[in-house]
Amino acid sequence: MEKKRWSYSRLTTHETCGWQYKLIYEDLMPKEQNGYGEFGTLMHMAIELIINGEDGYSFYVDNMNIENIPNGKFEEYSVVVPEFLRAFKPTSFHGEIVGTEKEFSLDIDSENEFTGIIDLILKSDNSYTLVDWKISKIFNKITLKEKQKQLYLYSNYVYQTYGVYPNKMFFYFPAVYANKKYIEINWLEADYKEAYNWMLNEINSVNTTERKPNTDNWIMCNRLCAVKNHCQYTL
Ligand code: SF4
Repeated sequence: MEKKRWSYSRLTTHETCGWQYKLIYEDLMPKEQNGYGEFGTLMHMAIELIINGEDGYSFYVDNMNIENIPNGKFEEYSVVVPEFLRAFKPTSFHGEIVGTEKEFSLDIDSENEFTGIIDLILKSDNSYTLVDWKISKIFNKITLKEKQKQLYLYSNYVYQTYGVYPNKMFFYFPAVYANKKYIEINWLEADYKEAYNWMLNEINSVNTTERKPNTDNWIMCNRLCAVKNHCQYTL
């Protein structure tokens, strides 16, 4: 029997709005791209090119579609990100690169597996570091507590592959103005367990609860939701 494939994005979609989950993962409605997603993808591709020794800066600049830049993001996406890409080098990080855009799939149990793509894995001596690129603004403490679950779940791949958990994980924000564009997370067992339990609880919730719309978040319903045009509850 084929296992159910869970990703961080799939789990957070259900956590955010049960109806969005139904439209995307059960009804298979086509997802609408938005400027945030398009620029995020373009930035990831450009960084990967640079890591592979190619001209990711020109790739980004040649492919940015100014018309698709979301409101209020012009400076960040058309100036700050290109500046970052122009200066970025594969040697900017400490350690040997052992993986980029690494797609993985790990068994959870006999019926479920967890899948993801790790942006960058670095090795230094016998310790590992994970890096995840974000085109968003830098996370505050509350957002970080939620978002770090992604990296903790990805850290299981490092353990399964190399026999140790990473000792550091980074969110990196190339679109922020500040000189310090990253958040460094020291891997902690308690936080790993919290993330893993969250995953198990969310899978259980998908399997046992009714799909309900969540219209409390205006920005989600009116801007970010990729299936808002198929939703009868859109505000
Ligand atoms: S528009 Fe709002 S209620 Fe509808 S699916 Fe999207 S997030 Fe859920």
